[in-house]
Amino acid sequence: MSTISSLAVQPTSGFVPAAGGREERFAAGNAFRRITVEDKRIINSRADVNQLVPFKYKWAWEKYIAACANHWMPQEINMSRDIALWKDPNGLTADERRVVVRNLGFFVTADSLAANNIVLGTYRHITAPECRQYLLRQAFEEAIHTHAYQYIVESLDLDAGEVFNAYHEIASIRDKDEFLVPFIDTLTDPAFRTGSAQADQQLLKSLIVFSCLMEGLFFYVGFAQILSLGRQNKMTGAAEQYMYILRDESMHCNFGIDLVNQIKLENPHLWTPDFREELQALFREAVELEYRYAEDTMPRGVLGLNAPMFKEYLRFIANRRCQQIGLETLYPGASNPFPWMSEMIDLKKERNFFETRVIEYQTGGALSWD
Ligand code: FE
Repeated sequence: MSTISSLAVQPTSGFVPAAGGREERFAAGNAFRRITVEDKRIINSRADVNQLVPFKYKWAWEKYIAACANHWMPQEINMSRDIALWKDPNGLTADERRVVVRNLGFFVTADSLAANNIVLGTYRHITAPECRQYLLRQAFEEAIHTHAYQYIVESLDLDAGEVFNAYHEIASIRDKDEFLVPFIDTLTDPAFRTGSAQADQQLLKSLIVFSCLMEGLFFYVGFAQILSLGRQNKMTGAAEQYMYILRDESMHCNFGIDLVNQIKLENPHLWTPDFREELQALFREAVELEYRYAEDTMPRGVLGLNAPMFKEYLRFIANRRCQQIGLETLYPGASNPFPWMSEMIDLKKERNFFETRVIEYQTGGALSWD
């Protein structure tokens, strides 16, 4: 039977992450000792994962607070203008409709993949309670995003079977998801354990693929498309939903990058030249896949956008992600053809963009009464 005195820094099962081996647990001593920040590590910590405090990773806690302050729900957004436009036979061109349907075809399942990856994979392997706290919030946000996409599909009365099956049926979408599957499988495999250099590199690689390439690259053609519609006063309800999603996803991406950089700092031996080369090959492949998705969703120019513009944009984003995790950039000189997207990401500048309401609103719990 477990007693409170057994809750040492290396306590008995149920209180430790899977990485903590039994022998090492006993070696750490049975005596009760309070946790200090030095005991905490992002991966392979043997400290009690239930003790949020003392804080070590304040950046993770601050992101958790900020994410909660940004809480929103899809049904708060009025979709009536979108519905009228979609029903009007002259409301949108065939190419614009294709953009919307293919776009949703990727996103309706993308955030479910992300949620499952967090809940069934990442969460188990991250041993810092502050980071787990953020991941719990992030998982809920992925659910809100799936809800938002479903709400748009339902509002527009789209063929849900077609949209939800697009990731099986549309090659450009399927290829993106198939690229991700091995990395999700690594983390969700019940037998996968961190603790060796090889396993820790696998974990790090999966985290990088998810934050830098899934949330940080595969979402960006789609975001730019729907926000372009909004900028032209079309599908403004959907565009507003996507703005909230973009705000959340920028934070997911930044949290993932902070996580990766902290793991690198604590485990510098993982960042070998071979490993970096392997990562760069993955970045190149992801840029290629996302570009093919751009071509498929926009076979001709639409909304002032065309696929070649996205080639430059994706190279620009890939360079930025490389810089953020300390990899050599891959596409020297790539520039941003959509500077307005960067402004969107810094949403403070875009308060009244759609003239609906203040986008940077806060929920009741975070209101200032000054
Ligand atoms: Fe996300």
